[in-house]
Amino acid sequence: MLVKLSVEQDNTMQQDRASLLYGNSTAGMLVTLFVGSFLVYSYPTPETLTFKYTWLVTLYVLVTIRFLDAYLWKKRNEAQDNQGRKAILRYSAGTLVTGVMWATYCIYVFRYASNTESSVIILTMAALAGGAANVLSAHKYTAMGYSFILLVPASLLLLISSNELQHIFGVLGLAYCMTILISANKSSDFTSNAIRLKNENATLVNQMELKVAERTETIYQLSNLDPLTGLYNRSAFMKHFSHMLAEDNESNSPIALLFIDLDGFKKINDTLGHETGDQILKQTSARLTYIQKKQHLLCRWGGDEFLFAYTTKDQPSPMAFATQLIQVISEPYECYGNYHSLSATIGIALSPEHATSADELIQLADTAMYYQKKHESATASLFTHDMRKRLLREQKIKTALSTAIERHQLRLVYQPIVQPKQSTIVAFEALLRWTLDNENIPPDEFIGIAEQYGLINSIGLWVLQQSCLVAANWPEVKGQKPAVSVNVSVIQLNSDSFMSDVREALVTANLPAEKLHIEITESVFAGDKENILERIKKLQATGVQVSIDDFGTEYSSLSAIQALAANTLKIDRSFVQNLDSSGLAIIQAVQNMAATLDYSVIVEGIETQQQAQILCDLGIDMMQGFYFAKPMERDDVKLFLEENA
Ligand code: C2E
Ligand code: CA
Ligand code: CA
Repeated sequence: MLVKLSVEQDNTMQQDRASLLYGNSTAGMLVTLFVGSFLVYSYPTPETLTFKYTWLVTLYVLVTIRFLDAYLWKKRNEAQDNQGRKAILRYSAGTLVTGVMWATYCIYVFRYASNTESSVIILTMAALAGGAANVLSAHKYTAMGYSFILLVPASLLLLISSNELQHIFGVLGLAYCMTILISANKSSDFTSNAIRLKNENATLVNQMELKVAERTETIYQLSNLDPLTGLYNRSAFMKHFSHMLAEDNESNSPIALLFIDLDGFKKINDTLGHETGDQILKQTSARLTYIQKKQHLLCRWGGDEFLFAYTTKDQPSPMAFATQLIQVISEPYECYGNYHSLSATIGIALSPEHATSADELIQLADTAMYYQKKHESATASLFTHDMRKRLLREQKIKTALSTAIERHQLRLVYQPIVQPKQSTIVAFEALLRWTLDNENIPPDEFIGIAEQYGLINSIGLWVLQQSCLVAANWPEVKGQKPAVSVNVSVIQLNSDSFMSDVREALVTANLPAEKLHIEITESVFAGDKENILERIKKLQATGVQVSIDDFGTEYSSLSAIQALAANTLKIDRSFVQNLDSSGLAIIQAVQNMAATLDYSVIVEGIETQQQAQILCDLGIDMMQGFYFAKPMERDDVKLFLEENA
């Protein structure tokens, strides 16, 4: 593979050349000094003595300068002050000047030299040139130039000499010079190649290292970061959080774990699409990251859930911090030119107070969040054991309730609705009872759970069918059969099958539609009013009567009540309990309003004769409450009817 070298790598190559040259320089210069001294002192011919000594001193000065240069180069090289090109130039100059010194020596001395001395000199020059071809191979022109300067002038001088032996040495010198030049050329090429290869390899290794680093980064991101938000993912968070908890064991300062769940995110995702949802998650993450400090641990736990963990030492209290987070999350979001708003509910668990393991802390904080979301979303709460108890109970109820019908744990009891003045029984309200492991679980507790977990439809259907079957068998009292009043949840009323369920229940039981009343609470007004009103009208058209239950406790506008055109308003028992204060006035006002709208009124929760009397005086016609009768078992209804016949 051909690897393109950058400027930087080219510099490195020059530096390598300089290193090779200077690396060999000490030995070379010592040889120069030794050989120079040897030649000068071996043949002390008087004619050349002054020249030789002057020459030798000059050589020593030159070599000393070159030693100094080598020393300085070594220092610079250690300091990584790479100046390869300049160093080569200096070295080359030093070497060539040394060569010129040798040439000068030969040219001067040959005139006076004996055959032996000139032979020794030319042989020495040949040896020096031979050595230089290798030692200087890192720089071709220096190697070739040095050998040339050493041998050519000396050999030419010998060649033109009349002395036959010197003549022969001249020829040999030139021939040898040719060989040395060829060899220097080759060995320079070889060295250059070696240096180049070394650098190419270094480049390759560098490139590979870069690739490996890139891969490692990608793998890290894939395995540790959430691709959408760039926050830690579950596994990375767990790793760091466990580590934080282990360190905390030593430092002993509490750690807070915040479980953040967005409120209203699902709606945005469902109605505006996943792209908007993703944008909002990214913005939320950016806001959280902005607040995040170095010692904070943050992750996207999944969906619209985020976790924050930190050591509370020298930090804001978890509740204060959670409140700040909620504020930040609740700021409006701009997305594709539109503004959206959402909030967050946060549950907090503390280590070591609540738990010490990462898994358990997350579970407890999740519990606190879940609990808080049900009771007051867009706020934060600290985990309590009571929360856990309640949620566990809820889970238990939910699980048991799903099989309560098939296990025959449900039954209905009936409470009469009476007309005290006429002493007649208008209807019985069917009230659900559930006995689980000898415990009577009150409907106020389990109906809400059934509604939350989608169990209310099947339970409601069972209640409807049972009520109709039982009521069909009630005898007439004073020429009138009592009706059955069934509580229906809004969810049930909204279900597609509700109308047909009612029809079927009536047909199966052979109960006239007029004998079925359904009780719905004011909460129907919170939902899709149009649809509900239409259903109620259809029901009424079949003869079924509709009562508004717990009237006065929730929000219902007068116009909605009017549009609903219900048959009966059941005034909540809380007003009866407050007859002394405002209760009476309110009942009176409702009574007047109902009279104008042509509704009947039932007052619930009458417990004393006195209450019954006051309401009678007020003109209330129908009443229900413990004073008249408590809810009774199916078989007791017949007895009750006979007694009151
Ligand atoms: P509700 O519809 O308001 O039912 C009346 C509740 O008041 C019943 O409680 C009844 O026992 C109680 N009550 C009646 N007279 C008096 C009285 O004089 N004093 C006092 N303190 N209480 C009286 P219960 O049976 O515990 O039912 C509670 C709630 O559970 C019901 O309130 C109703 O909302 C719901 N519920 C009961 N059965 C069903 C059902 O089959 N389906 C649905 N969807 N909800 C039901
Ligand atoms: Ca009721
Ligand atoms: Ca009621």
